[in-house]
Amino acid sequence: MKGTRIYDLAIVGAGAAGLQLLYEYFQLAENIDKQVLLIDSGDRTKKSWCFWAEKGHESFPFLIEKSWSQITYCSTQGRKQTQEINPQQYHYIPSEHFFNYFFDQYIPAHSQITVEFGWVKNLTETSENVDIELINGKSFVAERVANSIIEKSINLGEPILSQHFWGKFIEFDSDVLNSESVTIMDFSQKQLNPEYALFHYILPFTSRKALIETTVFSTQAYNEPEYEKMWNVYMEENFAGLSYQIIDIERGTIPMKQIKPSSARGRVIPIGTSAGNVKPSTGYAFTRMHRDAIELVNKQKKTKKARYSFYDSILLNMIQKENQVIPKVMDRLFSKMKFANILRFLDEKTNIGEELKLFSQLQIPLFLKHLLTRNR
Ligand SMILES: Cc1cc2nc3c(=O)[nH]c(=O)nc-3n(C[C@H](O)[C@H](O)[C@H](O)COP(=O)(O)OP(=O)(O)OC[C@H]3O[C@@H](n4cnc5c(N)ncnc54)[C@H](O)[C@@H]3O)c2cc1C
Repeated sequence: MKGTRIYDLAIVGAGAAGLQLLYEYFQLAENIDKQVLLIDSGDRTKKSWCFWAEKGHESFPFLIEKSWSQITYCSTQGRKQTQEINPQQYHYIPSEHFFNYFFDQYIPAHSQITVEFGWVKNLTETSENVDIELINGKSFVAERVANSIIEKSINLGEPILSQHFWGKFIEFDSDVLNSESVTIMDFSQKQLNPEYALFHYILPFTSRKALIETTVFSTQAYNEPEYEKMWNVYMEENFAGLSYQIIDIERGTIPMKQIKPSSARGRVIPIGTSAGNVKPSTGYAFTRMHRDAIELVNKQKKTKKARYSFYDSILLNMIQKENQVIPKVMDRLFSKMKFANILRFLDEKTNIGEELKLFSQLQIPLFLKHLLTRNR
């Protein structure tokens, strides 16, 4: 295509991964004059991105709206335990804040970035470039494409184990919340459906305002009326008689599936969810995507450690085949281990000695059973 402008990089998807990559790309001095095309469908679901990090190592610290230094776990028996997670902190970035920063400040300040709204239909690699075709008929050319479209094959192979959640941002009329601690998992509610492992999550912004979320691990389809029922039971059991206003709703699904991107070495590079950056056993992804963006931009080798995929496969097998043991496994884990160490393990920052110690605290026969029956 003679005369066609060729972008140095096209980023498909202005979501968490696409915008993190955009930011890191221009952090590198050698990229400062490069031309980047950012293409997005414009379909933006509201998300509350949370992650933990050691002090001084936070992703996008200037976008963090609130940080907590304590975490609470509530067991199946209703026993609450709160611990400091020093030297880590738990952080919250609302997606609106993140998008506003990029679209109102960062992108207008970078004339090298061209934004195009539309759905990408095809990405075709040629020997020199990638041809990008949009559903609206427009087309573009870039030397490389960072692609956050989730491949169709990832969605095949039902039933897919998923983390479904449905929650409300609410404001109580009185001070009823401990605003210093995030309730990471509350398993105190009776498991109302044998197909689910059910727990609740509380993100307290102040002593009155919080996001309270019903979460289920399940192979079944998203079922909003059922989650609403569970949410109401939880509120009745924990906040009976207290009045509150509903400010907003958050809903979502995260596939709990190990994704191995196929075309990592071509001109089209998968990023975000499609690059397997969502940790399948927890759904946390924000810092993994940030790490991936830094590694991609600096052409570093991926820091993935194979043994964590192995641990994930055991846990996923357990969730898929024996959902009902999960609350007890979590009870045991949180009663035996320091919360700060559990977070380091989930963040794949422990050493083998620490991991053996962690597994030895759990039910070995149960783990062996799922090690032997897991899907490979
Ligand atoms: C409700 C919710 C809450 C979450 N909370 C957390 C959390 O607290 N902490 C955490 O670490 N992780 C969390 N996650 C998981 C993960 O961080 C998010 O899903 C994250 O947004 C994934 O980033 P992504 O860039 O892969 O996808 P997205 O952020 O969804 O971005 C993909 C972008 O690509 C665009 N797009 C897709 N297809 C096309 C196409 N064909 N053409 C053009 N544009 C296209 C979409 O419109 C979208 O803008 C959450 C997920 C959900 C669903």
